[in-house]
Amino acid sequence: MIDYHVHLWRHAPNLSLQATVDQLAAYCEQAANLGVTEIAVTEHTSRFAQVDALVHGWWNRDPSPARRAEALAYWDGELGADLDQYVETALAARRAGLPVVIGLEVDYIPGRMDKVAALLDGYPFDVLLGSVHWIGAWLINAVDWADAQEQWTGRGVDRVWGEYTRSVEELAATRTVDVLAHPDLAKVAGHRPDVPAEFHERIAEAASACGLAAELNSSGWRRPCAEAYPAPDLLSRFRRHGVPITTASDGHRLADVSWRISDVTAMAMRAGYRELSVFRGRRRAPWPIAPAAGRPSPARAEEPGWP
Ligand SMILES: [Zn+2]
Ligand SMILES: [Zn+2]
Repeated sequence: MIDYHVHLWRHAPNLSLQATVDQLAAYCEQAANLGVTEIAVTEHTSRFAQVDALVHGWWNRDPSPARRAEALAYWDGELGADLDQYVETALAARRAGLPVVIGLEVDYIPGRMDKVAALLDGYPFDVLLGSVHWIGAWLINAVDWADAQEQWTGRGVDRVWGEYTRSVEELAATRTVDVLAHPDLAKVAGHRPDVPAEFHERIAEAASACGLAAELNSSGWRRPCAEAYPAPDLLSRFRRHGVPITTASDGHRLADVSWRISDVTAMAMRAGYRELSVFRGRRRAPWPIAPAAGRPSPARAEEPGWP
C-alpha cells in the first residue's frame, strides 16, 4: 500500500517548523507497521516563506473584512518553514534508504498559480497535490471556528458547493499539480448538496480533462462528514472517466500516518480499480493494488485541527 499525503506539522500557530530525517524515519516505520511501503511527504505550500513572498495578501480580494482578518491571522501563524530545508531533508531521507517521495500540498489561490508553479519548478518534486481549502478568504475546512462555520448558513449549501466545484475546475485547468487532494472537501463539515451528482460529475470531468489523478483520503472519517474522500458516487465517476488514483491518510502527526489506509485501499478495489499510481519526478507510474496487509489501524484519539 501507499500513503501519498502526510504532513510534518500539525495546525497550530507559531510552531517551530524544522524538517528532520528522524521524523521521516518514524513516519516510515509507522507506515510500514500498517502495510505501507512508500509515503509522499506533502507539506502545505502555505508553510513556506518562499511561497508567502509570492502570494502574501491574496485574501485581500475578499470583500469581507472579517474573513480577510481571519485569513491573515491564520496564514501568518502557520508560516515559518524554509522550502530548501524541507526538500533537502526529504532528499537526505531518501539517500538514507527511506521509502519517501518528495511532494507538496499546493493551495489553489486564484490568479497566483503561475507564480507558484514557476517557483516549484526549481525543486526536484516527485508529486504535487492540489487542494481547494479556501473560498475567497474563507477556510472551509476550519470546522472548529464558529465564525467560519456560520458561513454555511449565510451562503447556502448549494452555492458553496458550486463555488468549491468551480475552484476545482480552475485549479485543474492551471495544470500546476498532479493529484487532486480530498476531491470533495466541501462536505467536510457535513453539509451536502441536494443533488451531489452534478457537482461530482464536474469534478470527475475536470480531473479527467486535465490529466489529474485523484486521491482516496481516509482523514474524512475523523471529520464531521464521517466519510472518506471521495464519496462512493464520486469515486465511481472517477473510475468511469479513467481517472487514476492514489491512497492517502493526510496525517498531520505520527499517530495519524497511514491511518485506515487499508480501508481506502479496499474502497479502491471495490470501485473496480486494479492499480494505484505512484510518482517520480512528476511522472506517474502504475503500482499494483494489494489487499490490506499489516495490522489494523488503532482507534484514534481526537485532537483539534483539520487536514
Ligand atoms: Zn493535507
Ligand atoms: Zn488539504
